[in-house]
Amino acid sequence: MYFFDPMYLLIMLPGIALAAWAQWRVQSAFGMASRIRPRSGYVGAQAADEVMRAAGVEGVQIRPVEGYLSDHYDPRAKTLNLSPDVYQGESLAALGIAAHEAGHAIQDARGYPYLGIRNALVPLASFGSQAAWLILFAGFIFGGALHMYLLGQTLIYAGIAGFAIVVLFQLVNLPVEFDASRRARIALQETGLVAPDEDATVGKVLNAAALTYVAATLSAALMLLYVLLRSGVLGGRRRD
Ligand SMILES: [Zn+2]
Repeated sequence: MYFFDPMYLLIMLPGIALAAWAQWRVQSAFGMASRIRPRSGYVGAQAADEVMRAAGVEGVQIRPVEGYLSDHYDPRAKTLNLSPDVYQGESLAALGIAAHEAGHAIQDARGYPYLGIRNALVPLASFGSQAAWLILFAGFIFGGALHMYLLGQTLIYAGIAGFAIVVLFQLVNLPVEFDASRRARIALQETGLVAPDEDATVGKVLNAAALTYVAATLSAALMLLYVLLRSGVLGGRRRD
């Protein structure tokens, strides 16, 4: 058994680099846009409320939650959870993120199909990301044992399926995130919360956030590629 594989680092490197760059862009765009007050004078919580009201979405509770950029919409509880910087933030960054989360609430109310698929994949993907390595290693161990080859192969394929589900989840997540940001920017302008000349700043924050999801998708795909190569399913090379 190997504990460190240079091939792993080599394959994962583009994903790690893109994730680091996206993280840096989010922090710099958010930091910059946090210091710019919208002329409308709204704070994030008010903006989320206004965007949902304009879209005719009812019954969603807006709540403050702890954390930095921990904002999320919970489709089960029908709650829109905003971090302190966003909830009370009177900034273009706060309005953009609050409206993005409101965009998810609108998707939910409208029955946006990719959101439904994404939510259905959440339990599978979280099981997959937690158990896939374990199942795969069990597969390698059993596969090397006498008379256990078939069990080993089955476990290896099950482990690979776990990684594939994570990739599928990330792929479905992309249109969900892009669509929420698109809705947010349109709604902020239509409601007059963000002026046309302020939109570019909101766009910088939301595009940087979108890049983190692209990075997560790339990393998941590279991880899948790595296990496919290492298990010999791709490239025909057996493990060593
Ligand atoms: Zn989102």
